[in-house]
Amino acid sequence: MARFCVSCGAEGVRLFGALCASCYVERNTLLKLPREVEIKRCRFCGSTWVQGKWVKDDNVLLSMVMSNSSLDPNVSSLTPSLRELLQDPSEGKVAIIEVNGKVGEVQFSINGKVRVNERNATCDSCLRKRGRKYEAIVQLRSTEGKMNDQLRRLFEDMLDQEAVENLCDVVVLREGVDYYFISKSVGRRVASKFSKVRKAWVSESHEGERIKDGKRESKLIISLRT
Ligand SMILES: [Zn+2]
Ligand SMILES: [Zn+2]
Repeated sequence: MARFCVSCGAEGVRLFGALCASCYVERNTLLKLPREVEIKRCRFCGSTWVQGKWVKDDNVLLSMVMSNSSLDPNVSSLTPSLRELLQDPSEGKVAIIEVNGKVGEVQFSINGKVRVNERNATCDSCLRKRGRKYEAIVQLRSTEGKMNDQLRRLFEDMLDQEAVENLCDVVVLREGVDYYFISKSVGRRVASKFSKVRKAWVSESHEGERIKDGKRESKLIISLRT
């Protein structure tokens, strides 16, 4: 029996079913991305819930997409990558995914979009921290009166590892965002760093002063107006 591709007639080539690799790639749906993946993410530290535990891993989205995709059995050397993460006004968060792979020696590339349904949660370690007392609140306010996401992102992107671990609560208000820090010194450091990145009015005040065990105790309120 002649071994040739029933579509293009190529002979002496590796066949996948009745087709050569090129024809196989053209005629088959090699990969079907899920329409949506759901990700449970800690609102404080960004950890994601994967297979029963909280992990800090930036590739979670891609591995979730791939494990929910249906894949043709003849595909090999699969490499997915995240091209873009968009905020679509009607669909919400959307990931643009590119997947490269091979059938035999023939390469293919597939692009698709996947809705990312992010659910906010609080991870175990943040939950423990939230049980702890805070000493400082950094109040981020816009002088325009209304908070904008850009300002919030600017502030949060600036937080380093120590600041993130020290952060025990984030409260979003109409007039701005309040960041609760376990330690005063971290709160002060964050505020001063931010005022260098962006021109901001920094003012400090104290709240709820009381004497406990002979020591003066109060919460430090740092207001950042920009
Ligand atoms: Zn062919
Ligand atoms: Zn967390």
